[in-house]
Amino acid sequence: MATPKELYYEKRAGILIRNLENRHFEACYCANKEEALRRILEMIPDGSSIGWGGTLTCQQLGLMEALHAGNYNCMDRDRCETPEAREKLQREMFFADWFITGANALSLDGQMVNIDGTGNRVAPIVYGPRNVLVVAGMNKVSDSLEDALSRARTIAAPMNKQRFPNQTPCEVTGTCGDCKTEGCICNQILVTRHCRPAGRIKFILIGEDLGM
Ligand code: SF4
Repeated sequence: MATPKELYYEKRAGILIRNLENRHFEACYCANKEEALRRILEMIPDGSSIGWGGTLTCQQLGLMEALHAGNYNCMDRDRCETPEAREKLQREMFFADWFITGANALSLDGQMVNIDGTGNRVAPIVYGPRNVLVVAGMNKVSDSLEDALSRARTIAAPMNKQRFPNQTPCEVTGTCGDCKTEGCICNQILVTRHCRPAGRIKFILIGEDLGM
């Protein structure tokens, strides 16, 4: 029997999918990580080139290992041996068949918010790869765009920064200090409100708490 949280996520996903489709995104709901992983591997054709940005959600799915084990050309910056090679690969990802990313927040009316330090994650969402796949747990969904922006700024970014040594106010206090430091990761704030061409950006929504 489904738990209250599972029922809650499933019902909200129904609303969100309708609103995403109204904005010409594609979207589907998977109850758990295992179902999501199967769905993604079915969705991406063999032989595709695939790049990705930093995404804890996809790591939690075991997606990167599965892609490396499959018949794909994986553009994995974490396997680059030098910073120069990593930078070059990030630029080459603009020409990938697929770009995979998480989301910092979604609003129930079908808009996505992402924050980025260097821009290597938000840039291919905007333009480049023919297909963009967004993988997100339903914990990322806020009721309004205002709430989604707040979630990205006050929860996702400060939590993400805990992986680093004390460079920014949020790493020290756990709260955003609206910094302008060298280590700031909130340099780009992207709201994706509509998909053009239609269907280029596809969402896999998962009925679990995933990512940050
Ligand atoms: S303190 Fe700086 S890096 Fe941290 S969340 Fe705020 S703007 Fe982003």
